Amino acid sequence: MNTYVEPARQLPVREFDVVIAGGGTAGVVAALAAARQGAETVLIEAKGYLGGIVVEGGTALHSYYNLWKAFPGVEKRQVVRGIPQEIVDRLAAVGGTSGHAEMLLGYDYDSVCTAIDTEIYKLVAFEMLVEAGVSVYVNTYLAGAIVEGSRVKGVIAESHSGREAILGRSFVDCTGYGDLAAHAGAGYSEPNDYAVANSIGVGGVSLERYHEFLDSYDAVKEYSTGMRSGRDGQIVRLMGISQKLPPEFMDEARAIGMATVTTTVHDDYFMFVKLNVRMPTSPTNRDEAAKAELELRRRQARAIALFKKHVPGCENAFIARTSPSLCIRRGRLITCDYDITLDDVLGGRHFADDVMSYGFHDSAPRLQIKDGGTYGIPYRALCVAGLDNLLASGMMITSDHDAHMSTRNTVCCMGQGQAAGTAAAICAQRGCGTRELPYADLRRALVASGVYLENG
Ligand SMILES: Cc1cc2nc3c(=O)[nH]c(=O)nc-3n(C[C@H](O)[C@H](O)[C@H](O)COP(=O)(O)OP(=O)(O)OC[C@H]3O[C@@H](n4cnc5c(N)ncnc54)[C@H](O)[C@@H]3O)c2cc1C
Repeated sequence: MNTYVEPARQLPVREFDVVIAGGGTAGVVAALAAARQGAETVLIEAKGYLGGIVVEGGTALHSYYNLWKAFPGVEKRQVVRGIPQEIVDRLAAVGGTSGHAEMLLGYDYDSVCTAIDTEIYKLVAFEMLVEAGVSVYVNTYLAGAIVEGSRVKGVIAESHSGREAILGRSFVDCTGYGDLAAHAGAGYSEPNDYAVANSIGVGGVSLERYHEFLDSYDAVKEYSTGMRSGRDGQIVRLMGISQKLPPEFMDEARAIGMATVTTTVHDDYFMFVKLNVRMPTSPTNRDEAAKAELELRRRQARAIALFKKHVPGCENAFIARTSPSLCIRRGRLITCDYDITLDDVLGGRHFADDVMSYGFHDSAPRLQIKDGGTYGIPYRALCVAGLDNLLASGMMITSDHDAHMSTRNTVCCMGQGQAAGTAAAICAQRGCGTRELPYADLRRALVASGVYLENG
């Protein structure tokens, strides 16, 4: 490939205590946590809104609770609280969530379904950040890092206003892709071990009729009722048993990578229908990603046709929302000081430097955390190896695929964000590196801001 040497140029400089890269699932919470510790905080987000895959790909927020229903006799515990719960409270106040709706079927997978309205989430997240005093740089792409030795000094950002240098004392990479860590020279790999997706919101449908369709084949696998269109006790989550559904429906669903699961908080609307495709390379490959973007849009159209043809009550189905770009389950895996193992997760291991507790596994009931309990995310797992003032949060930690099937879930990413944002702020205020921060001080700050810890 030919190369071009970019001429050096002078950039305007902005300065902050804490720089959070990526305003998605983890980044929103990290920025809130950092600002509430009193740090001058900037959040850099490539898109025009906040929320990331929470508002683009998922079906529900997994999970604020332990898996109590699958383990008779085990106590029901809300194991993720703090800012992640505050977001749910804010959503609930404006009709943006089902609430923590108890699973009535499929509770060996999750005990509750916390469904959300994607558009309300975007607004609520933005408002909370502004209220906390965060400088929210949306439509701003992080394009590089300024590094001196083992310290990140700043990032290079691009927006319609131009290119600028944003300097900081502490940094948190919440980009999902690990863009900041990679630019800063951190170690990473690209496992490419998941399908990528583009989930759609589908209008002109009936939850009740979809339920009847699944039920007519004795194929209801997951079912819960909660707040929908202002009324409690309405269906908010449904999933079918593929093996029981008619081949003329399921063969096409499989061909387009469509999951039968959906959630909602509104009548006549499926908030998420997931379409998946496997890429031959990591999603960081721009040209392969472009092919996947097109293929997923074709699959979305086929999904609508499938619902119209086979599911009574969906004759008028249409696409009401798509994600603006691929939803990835893993991009770069960033090397951190500790790599959470599957044994840690399934064995319910807690660490001396836990920053949160978590009790959900995406591969349940095949894989569940011991006795319906929790494991801990250690602070070390967020410290990017080789760099003194960079933390990572979200899907970019945890190498083992099956362990990642737990740590990558939304509520775990949010909890990591609260821990990383809090730590980054305290480090910035004290002028210390992430590894010089005494755990006792971090723990005190987390507990004071509502984080629930099960390690003593
Ligand atoms: C299709 C799909 C379905 C899922 N379903 C569920 C589910 O039902 N329940 C569940 O709990 N989890 C689910 N997950 C997993 C979970 O949603 C994700 O793992 C989690 O949301 C990732 O959070 P994150 O903060 O790491 O990344 P993201 O939420 O993706 O946030 C990253 C943010 O960084 C921004 N960004 C990236 N690069 C740059 C850059 N260079 N400059 C500026 N900004 C940048 C992005 O625009 C984005 O806003 C699902 C995932 C997918 C893909």
